[in-house]
Amino acid sequence: MNFSIVLDQGTRIDFRYIPIILIFLFINDKAAIVSAVLIAAARFIIGVSLTSYLSVFVLTVLVIGLYVIKHATRKHESMYLKGSIMVIYATTLYTIFFIQVTSITVELVTLLIFFWIVAMAGGLFALFIMNYLRTAELLLRKYEAESTIDYLTGLSNVRKFYQMLDYYTKKYKTKKTPLAIGMIDIDFFKRVNDKHGHDAGDIVLMEVARILEETIDDETFVFRKGGEEFTAIFPNAPLEDVLYSLERCRLAVQHHGFKIDELKELNLTISIGICHYSETASSVDELMTNADEKLYKAKETGRNRLVF
Ligand code: GH3
Ligand code: MG
Ligand code: MG
Repeated sequence: MNFSIVLDQGTRIDFRYIPIILIFLFINDKAAIVSAVLIAAARFIIGVSLTSYLSVFVLTVLVIGLYVIKHATRKHESMYLKGSIMVIYATTLYTIFFIQVTSITVELVTLLIFFWIVAMAGGLFALFIMNYLRTAELLLRKYEAESTIDYLTGLSNVRKFYQMLDYYTKKYKTKKTPLAIGMIDIDFFKRVNDKHGHDAGDIVLMEVARILEETIDDETFVFRKGGEEFTAIFPNAPLEDVLYSLERCRLAVQHHGFKIDELKELNLTISIGICHYSETASSVDELMTNADEKLYKAKETGRNRLVF
């Protein structure tokens, strides 16, 4: 708007339709129509004349046309194709408008040539910038989400585990709300890899993750801590509930047949170390080391068991 070219008293060439095109393409129809209404209202600030009414009429035709183009090209993926059609349509529309409201002179033709060059270059550049920013934002969100997800099992990863543990530790420290963690480790997992190969090991890890997620209640968070170790955080749960929930997990794994290929089915077990604040630990800071010690004890005393 700041760089608009004044044709005569009430007529000026500008590129206010480019933001409308961008809003149609990158936000939604409603926002684009609202923007057009605001631009139309602002048009009267410049001055009320026949041209201002005419320009509001052109703006209405513009919005209807852009809407039609957007929906007619819905099946096309390319943002540049849709955007280019819109820019060409809008520039043509305004060219007709300028020819109608002013007399054709050599200066007008020169201005219109200049108008077309700037409109096409500016329109495509604006599309490029918007597309670039949107792609960058989507990628950032994707990487943010992926940085806390374990690629193999789809569970939250160790980074997320420590974030959540830190969050609940700080939150519950002062409130004295119960907080428990369970450390779950597959028994003799190395044998699966050694006997049946790494891919079979991966299948087992994915299956155990699925069983844990399905068996554990909705208020509990399950993570893959790394290798064949998983963890669970139980916010605000009494010890009995934690034990009940993890015992169900242990039994579910024990009774599951891990199908590693068409013919072979394996049976496996898990050992679990549990620490509960404040039933088995006097401070939330002890949760990790205590649960780790309990897991070690579960392994030492025969595996396939819960120790708390
Ligand atoms: P324990 O009962 O004492 O826990 O014995 P274990 O064999 O389960 O434990 P150990 O720590 O000796 O072996 C864990 C194995 O897990 C070793 C490692 O190669 C394997 N492992 C770690 N991450 C992965 C993975 O992503 N995929 C596969 N297939 N194996 C993995
Ligand atoms: Mg282990
Ligand atoms: Mg193990």
